[in-house]
Amino acid sequence: SSICLATDGKIQRRQTRPVPVGSITIGGGHPVAVQSMINEDTLDIDASVAAIRRLHEIGCEIVRVTVPSMAHAKAMEEIRHRVFTTYQPVPLVADVHHNGLKIALEAAKHVDNVRINPGLYVFEKPKLDRTEYTQAEFDEIGDRIRETLEPLVVSLRDQNKSMRIGVNHGSLAERMLFTYGDTPEGMVESALEFIRICESLNFYNLEISLKASNVPVMISANRLMVQRMDELGMNYPLHLGVTEAGDGEYGRIKSTAGIGTLLAEGIGDTIRVSLTEAPEKEIPVCYSILQALGLRRTMVEYVACPSCGRTLFNLEEVLHQVRAATNHLTGLNIAVMGCIVNGPGEMADADYGYVGKQAGYIALYRGREEIKKVPEDRGVEELINLIKADGRWVDP
Ligand code: SF4
Repeated sequence: SSICLATDGKIQRRQTRPVPVGSITIGGGHPVAVQSMINEDTLDIDASVAAIRRLHEIGCEIVRVTVPSMAHAKAMEEIRHRVFTTYQPVPLVADVHHNGLKIALEAAKHVDNVRINPGLYVFEKPKLDRTEYTQAEFDEIGDRIRETLEPLVVSLRDQNKSMRIGVNHGSLAERMLFTYGDTPEGMVESALEFIRICESLNFYNLEISLKASNVPVMISANRLMVQRMDELGMNYPLHLGVTEAGDGEYGRIKSTAGIGTLLAEGIGDTIRVSLTEAPEKEIPVCYSILQALGLRRTMVEYVACPSCGRTLFNLEEVLHQVRAATNHLTGLNIAVMGCIVNGPGEMADADYGYVGKQAGYIALYRGREEIKKVPEDRGVEELINLIKADGRWVDP
């Protein structure tokens, strides 16, 4: 299996095919890309252009826009033009929510990637008696899906654009549901059916997502997808996300549990954290997950002890001050420790350490070496001086 568990302290990422989304490449060893979706009405061009720019400026590398109708698809032309001419070429994705081929075809002209949901390519009448589909029925619907999808696949292929096959646990097509159940297997088979159609048309610029609001289901579906792709000799990159994760702390934890677990196994090439909050709130969560796993380094890494009876200063407050003074410096690792009782090794290879020394004094460390003892009230200032003396400071 290509599920890779870290043995040397570094995550071994599963090798995937590079897939273009405008100027960003997903997979192929490229950094795990961060994406989100604006929640403006796409018909409100001013608001959509501003929202795309706002998200991109804070690190959203791929921006998705909903395209529920032909008018929305046409609006993408102006939105893209305005974003590109007044700002920069942001990689754009159109989310096409149903099997409206004409809408998807129009959107494909104006964006870099079209997201489709296999569960919405439904041609059968609901079987109210829940009888199983015969193979003939199953295949006949498969043929109709293929006919419907073909022009979109050909258009994206000929423009060297890409497609996301985005399966949702909550919207599996009935025939998948009746054949495989409401299961990770049903999700994987839904994706594979669409992959096969694309491959038969020589289109390989695909990314796959298998999302669920239930974290164990989302994790199993992605693991199973990797296993099936390995068996079939496929290596499409995966887009990870937990749908309807909610808001606040629990929404973040739920997303991290799902996305982080898979990333730690080397699975996942792009992520979206879906929060019931402004999309801007999702981006720092994405970067924190990637930083915590050592997959991307975009912030200062802070190491801090939890404090205890030995703590010689107000650790929470000092950590806050140190963070406020230094969080604009990327690539540094700074430790704030209540005391040195367990040795500098506890600072986990920090570049700098701020450590309780004795009542009223702290010690500053460079790596594992104690540099100087300073009165506590000058601690943060002296830490900055030390970083400056080492030439590693930049003004905020
Ligand atoms: Fe307590 Fe010192 Fe450990 Fe912090 S580093 S938790 S103060 S023993």
